[in-house]
Amino acid sequence: MRRKLAAGNWKMNGLAASLAEVEALAKAHPAPRSEVLICPPATLIAQMAWKAKGGPVMVGGQDCHPEASGAHTGDIAAAMLKDAGASHVILGHSERRADHGETDAVVRAKAEAAHAAGLVAVICLGETEAQRDAGTTLDVIGSQLRGSVPAGATAANTVIAYEPVWAIGTGRTPTLAQIAEVHDFLRADLATRLAGAADVRLLYGGSVKPSNAAEIFATSNVDGALVGGASLKAAEFGAILAALDAA
Ligand code: PEP
Repeated sequence: MRRKLAAGNWKMNGLAASLAEVEALAKAHPAPRSEVLICPPATLIAQMAWKAKGGPVMVGGQDCHPEASGAHTGDIAAAMLKDAGASHVILGHSERRADHGETDAVVRAKAEAAHAAGLVAVICLGETEAQRDAGTTLDVIGSQLRGSVPAGATAANTVIAYEPVWAIGTGRTPTLAQIAEVHDFLRADLATRLAGAADVRLLYGGSVKPSNAAEIFATSNVDGALVGGASLKAAEFGAILAALDAA
């Protein structure tokens, strides 16, 4: 039985005052059936982890460096995230793949570093609109999956997030049939390579909001969501969490 997961990606948003949203979320949903994760900017991880202690909200990073330490100005090692109170780290988000040129091999190395530090890696995959229009979605997803997910991945240390690039922050979402096609493909592909693949959580991400969450969560092999914009406010993210709990 896969426990559902509602994960929020705050991206480059949030100051200390935003921590009130986490307190409001925990107050409104003190004991959700689903797991709840918020990945704030690195500057807020330690404070958020401290405020969330003892409650339902887990805290994660948005990236880590593949190496454990060294001369990498501005970067953060996985063990530093763990030390600050994080339990998870998002890796291979399309914004990092595009803005920082992250390849599948880099994402895989980062996932290995995350696992070595005891973090759960939330590995993101997704096709561009041009790739979908060209009919290559499953080829792209399969290649990203094989390239980005390390051999040591398990249901306990890895979550996969399918995030079509064209659906992120645009208000557009794939049809439910398109989401199901990719999630069923991911489940089948993982089963050929990982022991225990049936237990790996598969999240959908891309313009999830309270109004579309229930139908997305009822879709085949969708075990939760990675949510950007709608995770910034406790009321909106809480409504998505409630839909996941009800699914
Ligand atoms: C994301 O960036 O991971 C994301 C899904 O963003 P949004 O929900 O805003 O589309």
